[in-house]
Amino acid sequence: MEGRKAVGLAARDTTGFLSPYTFNLRKTGPEDVALKVLYCGIDHTDLHQMRNEIHGTAYPLVPGHEVVGEVVELGSEVKKFKVGDKVGVGCMIWSCGKCSDCKSNSEQYCSQKILTVNGKYEDGTPTHGGFSSAMVVHQRQALPCHTAALFKPNCGDCRFVVRIPENLAPEQAAPLLCAGVTAYSPLKQFIGINKVVRGGILGLGGVGHLGVIIAKALGHHVTVISSSERKREEALKHLGADAFLVSSNAADMEAAADSFDYILDTVPVLHPLRSYLSLLKVDGKLVIVAAVPQPLQFDAVELILGKKNISGSFIGSMEETQEILEFWAEKGLTTMIETVKADYVNKAFERMERNDVRYRFVLDLAASNLH
Ligand code: NAP
Ligand code: ZN
Repeated sequence: MEGRKAVGLAARDTTGFLSPYTFNLRKTGPEDVALKVLYCGIDHTDLHQMRNEIHGTAYPLVPGHEVVGEVVELGSEVKKFKVGDKVGVGCMIWSCGKCSDCKSNSEQYCSQKILTVNGKYEDGTPTHGGFSSAMVVHQRQALPCHTAALFKPNCGDCRFVVRIPENLAPEQAAPLLCAGVTAYSPLKQFIGINKVVRGGILGLGGVGHLGVIIAKALGHHVTVISSSERKREEALKHLGADAFLVSSNAADMEAAADSFDYILDTVPVLHPLRSYLSLLKVDGKLVIVAAVPQPLQFDAVELILGKKNISGSFIGSMEETQEILEFWAEKGLTTMIETVKADYVNKAFERMERNDVRYRFVLDLAASNLH
């Protein structure tokens, strides 16, 4: 059923060029939240998708999965929000709610999940993301929310639409909905470890800079591993990293061998894993979050002799998404963003691709004239 009209920015082909696109949102159902989009972060995954580099893109594609909006209409069953509330939507908008992943609060791994961008509803209609004036999102009443118990008792469940804490600026919140939770979810495994954890953040971009801030807030000793000297001062002074390593500096890389408990790999292009695996201690973990379009290579013998681990990690659960928002607000952390209007979007992607953003573009859609 058709509801209100939305104007978005869509890619029509593999050039990834974005231009205005008008489409119909579905009618707001009983468990839906309709929102006016205020801000949306620009993630490198958007670029991969716009260019059909991963997962087969269906065009027209409206990107955007770090969405902060204001509730404009609520379905009759939605109890947790009221009109005017600030809410967030991340990478997924639905999961089955029945499989073991859904039941264990890991619904990001549900095989039936529907992604916010380049997904399909049951009836085959494509999903459209947050580079848009408005969205309608299902807020499933499902499992009890553990985060609610941790932070705000009885706030209800937290599925697919999350609450933006009152003391967190909406544009600050946007990058947390994908990049932030993508770093937070794998780093959480080190909480409660009773020693100084030594971590490496490989690639200081959108995900990487939030990785540094989160790892520092968790008390880790943090080294930024970067492709050049350019970000050294900002990494150490502005982001509070403890050390900075340039991946092309063979002597420094050698000196840092066998010293990391983990490396969070955020580099979105082909890169040799071998030199990074050698930085890990015995049993150390290389956590790959970057969606590199080509196959990556590593040396099996090095992996074996060092008992090293390579793993992947996909965003985080909805519970973790709410958790990182609360974590940010409680600790008074700052997301480093450059806010731009919709008419700058193609330029923003061009700059992101040439590694010229500190560290996340956020589209100010409410202040943009999309029509
Ligand atoms: P980004 O802002 O573009 O940052 C990537 C960083 O990688 C750059 O800042 C740069 O850091 C480094 N880099 C090294 N060589 C590069 C090159 N040739 N071109 C561009 N960057 C290069 O990207 P992002 O938004 O953080 O996303 C990073 C990756 O994670 C992407 O592949 C994205 O799709 C993926 N991702 C995955 C998930 C997930 O759930 N697993 C979630 C979000 C994003 P230095 O200057 O320090 O070298
Ligand atoms: Zn499921």
